Amino acid sequence: MTREIGHYVGGKNIEGTSKRFSDVFNPNTGEVQAHVALASSSEVRKAVEISGEAQVGWANTNPQRRIRVLIEFYNLVLKEMDTLAEMLSSEHGKTVPDSKGDIQRGIEVVEFAIGAPHHLKGDYTDGAGPGIDMYSMRQPLGVVAGITPFNFPAMIPMWMCAPALASGNAFILKPSERDPSVPMRLGELFKEAGLPDGVFNVVNGDKEAVDALLEDPDVHALSFVGSTPIAEYVYKTGSANGKRIQALGGAKNHLIVMPDADMDMTVDALIGAGYGSAGERCMAVSVAVPVGEEAADALLEKLIPRVENLRIGPSSDAEADYGPVVTKQHEEKIKSYVDIGVKEGAKLLVDGRDFKMQGYENGYFVGGCLFDHVTPDMRIYKEEIFGPVLSVVRAKDYEDALRLPSEHEYGNGVAIYTRDGDAARDFAHRVQIGMVGINVPIPVPLAYHSFGGWKRSLFGAHNQHGPDSFHFFTKAKTVTARWPSGMKDGAEFVLPTMK
Ligand code: NAD
Repeated sequence: MTREIGHYVGGKNIEGTSKRFSDVFNPNTGEVQAHVALASSSEVRKAVEISGEAQVGWANTNPQRRIRVLIEFYNLVLKEMDTLAEMLSSEHGKTVPDSKGDIQRGIEVVEFAIGAPHHLKGDYTDGAGPGIDMYSMRQPLGVVAGITPFNFPAMIPMWMCAPALASGNAFILKPSERDPSVPMRLGELFKEAGLPDGVFNVVNGDKEAVDALLEDPDVHALSFVGSTPIAEYVYKTGSANGKRIQALGGAKNHLIVMPDADMDMTVDALIGAGYGSAGERCMAVSVAVPVGEEAADALLEKLIPRVENLRIGPSSDAEADYGPVVTKQHEEKIKSYVDIGVKEGAKLLVDGRDFKMQGYENGYFVGGCLFDHVTPDMRIYKEEIFGPVLSVVRAKDYEDALRLPSEHEYGNGVAIYTRDGDAARDFAHRVQIGMVGINVPIPVPLAYHSFGGWKRSLFGAHNQHGPDSFHFFTKAKTVTARWPSGMKDGAEFVLPTMK
C-alpha cells in the first residue's frame, strides 16, 4: 500500500486535511512510493499558531540549554545516518554515499550553531558617557520559516533550522514535495533530542502553503532556497508583506581552465563537479572555459572518454558516479535542453539522451552529455539545465574567460584551475561571483563561513549559515543606561554628542 505522509506539527505526525496530495516517486523505478499531503492555508495558519505558543518558552530557555538539545539532535542524526541516507536516496535518486554527504554537510551547520551562546552574546561599553553604559543584545524574531528545494533535502533544512532554533525562534519547514521523508524524520529526532513540542514543525505543501507563510503576519522571517523565478517571487512578496527574506536561487557555475592547469586534475574536477549527483547541485559546474585553443583541445582529449565512461547506476549502487534524476518531468526537461543545444548549433560530443539503465527501464536516467563550441548567446549557456550536461565555451584569452561568469545573470560559484598565483589572485578579486574556488571545483564554504551567491542567485542581504545566519534569525537591540549618580538636573534640548 502507498504510504501517506502528512505534516509534523506540535511534536506529532498529523494527517493532512486539505484532501490535496502529491506523488512521491522512486526515481530508480518510476513507481509512486508515497503520497504527501499538500497543506491548505488554514493548516498553515494552525501550525503558525502552535509555533507561536511554543516559541515563548523556547526563547526564555537560556542559550546553553537550547544548544544541549542541538548536541543531542546531532548525535541522533549521526546514529541514524545509514537509514536516513537510504531514505533520502530512494526519493531523490542520489547515491547513498552522496546522500550521506548531504546529511553530513547539514549536521556541520548544527555543529556550528552549537556556538550560539558565543554568537548571541552582545557588546558592552562601560562609561560611554558620564555615568552612561551601553550594551547590545540579539533577540529571536519569533516564528520563522524555511522553504527548501528537492536537491538537498537534509542539508538545506539544517542550514536554516539550526541557527534559527539556537537563536530562540520556532521554525516551520516547508520542504520540497518531491522528497519529504527525511525532513519529517528530522522533526521526530528533534523531539527525541528534547526539543519542546511545536518549536520545530514540518508543513508539507506547494504554492498554497508557501503563499500562506508569505502572508501570515506572525511569520517574521522566511529563508528560501530554490529556483530563481520562485526565489524572486518569494523575496518580492515576503518583503512587500514586511518580512525579513533571504532567497537563494539558481546558478550557472563556470570552471576556467588556464593553459598552465594540470589537465588530469582539471578533468577529475570537471567530472565530479559536472556530473556528480546527476548535475542536480546548485554548485555543480555546468560550463568549462578553456583559455586558448590549445588548452581546449588538450582538455577535451582527456574529458571525452571520461564522460563516455561515466558509471551510472541505481541510487543503491555505492560505486555509481551518479543515479537517476528526480522526476520524469525533470528527465524530459534536461533532454529537451540537449535538443535545443543541438538546434542552436553547439557540437554534441557525447550524447546521453538514449541511455537506458538495464533492469531499471522505467527509472529517470540521463547519460552524461558534453557540448563543445557553446556560445554565450545560446539558451544552453544562459539557462540552468540542472542535469548531467556540461558545456564547453572556448575563451580566446584570460580577460575573455573572466568576463563570461562576471557577465552571466547568475553569480553563485566559479572556479579557476591554474598554477599561476598571480592569475588566481587577480581572478578571485575581479570576478563578479559570490563563491570562488582556486583549484577547488565546488567552493561551498564550511559551516562557519557564510554561503551565498551574487546577482540573480540570491535576493536579500544575508547569506546562509556562518555569522550571517545569526544576524538573519535575530534582531539587535541596544540599551543605553544611566543611573542617578551620573544625572544632571534639567532638560536637554540639544542632541547629546561626544564633542
Ligand atoms: P523550486 O523553485 O521548484 O522549489 C523550491 C521550493 O519552492 C519547494 O519547496 C517548492 O515546493 C516551492 N515552490 C515551487 N513552486 C512554487 C511556486 N510557484 N510558488 C511558491 N513556492 C513554490 O526548486 P527545486 O526544483 O526544488 O530545486 C532546484 C533549484 O534550486 C535549482 O534552481 C537550484 O539551482 C536551486 N538551488 C539553489 C541553491 C543555492 O544555494 N543557491 C541550493 C540548492 C538548490
